[in-house]
Amino acid sequence: MTVNILFAAHADRWAQYETPLTEALDATGLGYDLRTDFAPDEVDYIVYAPNSAVQDFTPYKRLKAVMNLWAGVEGVVQNPTLTVPLTRMVDKEGLTQGMVEWVTGHVLRHHLEMDRHIVNPGHVWDHAPPPLSKDRPVTILGFGALGQACAAALLPLGFPVTGWSRSQKSMPGVTALSGADGLHAALGKAQIVVLLLPATPMTENTLNAQTLAMMPRGAVIINPGRGPLIDDTALLTALDSGQIDHATLDVFRVEPLPAEDPYWSHPKVTVTPHIASETRPDSASRVIAENIRRNEAGKGLLHLVDRSAGY
Ligand code: NAP
Repeated sequence: MTVNILFAAHADRWAQYETPLTEALDATGLGYDLRTDFAPDEVDYIVYAPNSAVQDFTPYKRLKAVMNLWAGVEGVVQNPTLTVPLTRMVDKEGLTQGMVEWVTGHVLRHHLEMDRHIVNPGHVWDHAPPPLSKDRPVTILGFGALGQACAAALLPLGFPVTGWSRSQKSMPGVTALSGADGLHAALGKAQIVVLLLPATPMTENTLNAQTLAMMPRGAVIINPGRGPLIDDTALLTALDSGQIDHATLDVFRVEPLPAEDPYWSHPKVTVTPHIASETRPDSASRVIAENIRRNEAGKGLLHLVDRSAGY
């Protein structure tokens, strides 16, 4: 039997995905048809991005699963017309690797205080070496696929790493915390905080006036998670008061970040344009093809989204 797979992402993505998805699906040995258009009642799987034209899943009567190309699912998880399983992107070779590189780079930038020497218009001979990594505790809020991979990269560099999640986790060498008390403890000792939480009603404004005040004075925030994780007004106040020394922000409530947004011109803010990590067509296609193969073999889908939790 032929498995019909609809590719429904932003129009310009098909050119990037057609070849790698075809190659990955060929390698599974499945009989399949992959297209950007089908009669809805013929579709078995949708390879999906929330910015696609498909917003109403009702006509897809024989749909088995929607496979999100992104790790973040906030744009689809609450869609009331979606009644079949939803998977999110977990791809060690591509998406995860990119995030590990971006987070490690920005942690090292702040740890080594590189800006003092890179931006030094007065040519000041400022001989103040940075501490060793063992004296620079890093806390990762959101200790899932990406947070744990970043911890695994930071640990061998010597950073004391704390990971905070909804359910209790364990990872050798990491202080794993959960719950409201855990957040207090996780922030209380963090000189660098990395946000890798999903955007859900529960995680909105995780960093707010109260929680920013829990961090040691002069701490640094790195947010490659999602914009709504931070109360922007509270962060700007904390930056101006010196409570927070710097914020490196990759994600925002409104993207692209509007030209008039105060983050653009704030001297203690680095804006990056949602480039921390991108789904990579080659490796992501292999993840999707393998997941379809598993499901067709009755082995169940990997990377299922918990619709009630929102991620
Ligand atoms: P994941 O594997 O689902 O991990 C999410 C983590 O957040 C889990 O540890 C989860 O706890 C924790 N969490 C969720 N709700 C929580 C709450 N209310 N309190 C405490 N912890 C909570 O997701 P992922 O693949 O690591 O991706 C994380 C996020 O990164 C994505 O949702 C996306 O927004 C963002 N992202 C951004 C980019 C970029 O380019 N900027 C790229 C990719 C992803 P449990 O472990 O207990 O479930």
